[in-house]
Amino acid sequence: MMLAVRGLDAGYGKLAILHDVSLDVAAGEIVTVVGSNGAGKTTLLRALNGIIRPTAGTVTLDGIDIAGRATEKMAALGLMHVPENRLCFPSLSVRDNLNLGAWSRGGKGDLAAVLELFPRLEPRLGQAAGTLSGGEQQMVAIGRGLMASPKAIILDEPSIGLAPKVVAEIMRVLTELRSRGLAVLLVEQNVRASFGIADRAVVMQRGRVVLEGTPAELVELPEVRNAYLGGAAA
Ligand code: ATP
Repeated sequence: MMLAVRGLDAGYGKLAILHDVSLDVAAGEIVTVVGSNGAGKTTLLRALNGIIRPTAGTVTLDGIDIAGRATEKMAALGLMHVPENRLCFPSLSVRDNLNLGAWSRGGKGDLAAVLELFPRLEPRLGQAAGTLSGGEQQMVAIGRGLMASPKAIILDEPSIGLAPKVVAEIMRVLTELRSRGLAVLLVEQNVRASFGIADRAVVMQRGRVVLEGTPAELVELPEVRNAYLGGAAA
C-alpha cells in the first residue's frame, strides 16, 4: 500500500476526535472519505499531514512511518495535502504560487506537467492568483501540490463552492493523477462526484470508519443513499 493508516487516534488537546481509524490507499487508486459535518474528515487529513499529532496508531507512506512528522517535512516525504478553501497567495502570480510547491524538492518542479493537466493556467501564469475564479484557484492549489512530485495526495473538499462543470474538470484531473500512479485520498461532501471516480469509499461517523466498500456497493445501502445521496437510487 502506498498510504496505510492503522488504528489512528487524534484530536485537539484533550478532545479525542478520531478513534481507531484504519484505511489504505494503493498507488493508482482513488479512495474517497465521506461523512456528515463533524464526522472527523478534516481532522483525519490534518492528522495524516502532521498538522495535529496522532495520539495512537501508525501512518506509513511507501513503507516509511510518517505519523507525527512535522508538516513541512511531509511534502519532501511525498505526501501532499491540498487543504480546504484552496489556499493561494492572492498577490503572487500563478507562476510564483506554483513554484512555491517545488521548494520541498529543491526548487525544481515540473511546471510543464502541471500545465498539461491544467491548460487554463498557462495563459494566466503572470496573473495575480487572487484574480482567478474559484475553480482556477483550486487548480493552482492542486497544481502547487503536484510541483513537489508527491506519491500521495490528500484533498479536502476540492469541489466546494464550484460549478458542476468545474467540479467535473477537477474530478477528471484526479483520475489522470490516478493513472500516473498517485495514491489519491479525497474527502468530499459532493458524494455523487467523488463516488463517480473513486475505486473505494470509506464512510466516517463520529470519528470512526463505519462502512467501506466500492461506491457501487455503498450506493446499494439505503443508509448511504439517504444520508449522502438525497435518498435517490443509484
Ligand atoms: P465538515 O464536513 O463539517 O468539514 P469534518 O468531518 O471535516 O466536518 P472535522 O472538521 O474533522 O469534521 O471536525 C470533527 C470535530 O472536531 C468537530 O466536532 C469539530 O468541532 C472538532 N474540531 C475541529 N477543529 C477543531 C479545533 N481546531 N479545535 C477543537 N475542535 C475542533
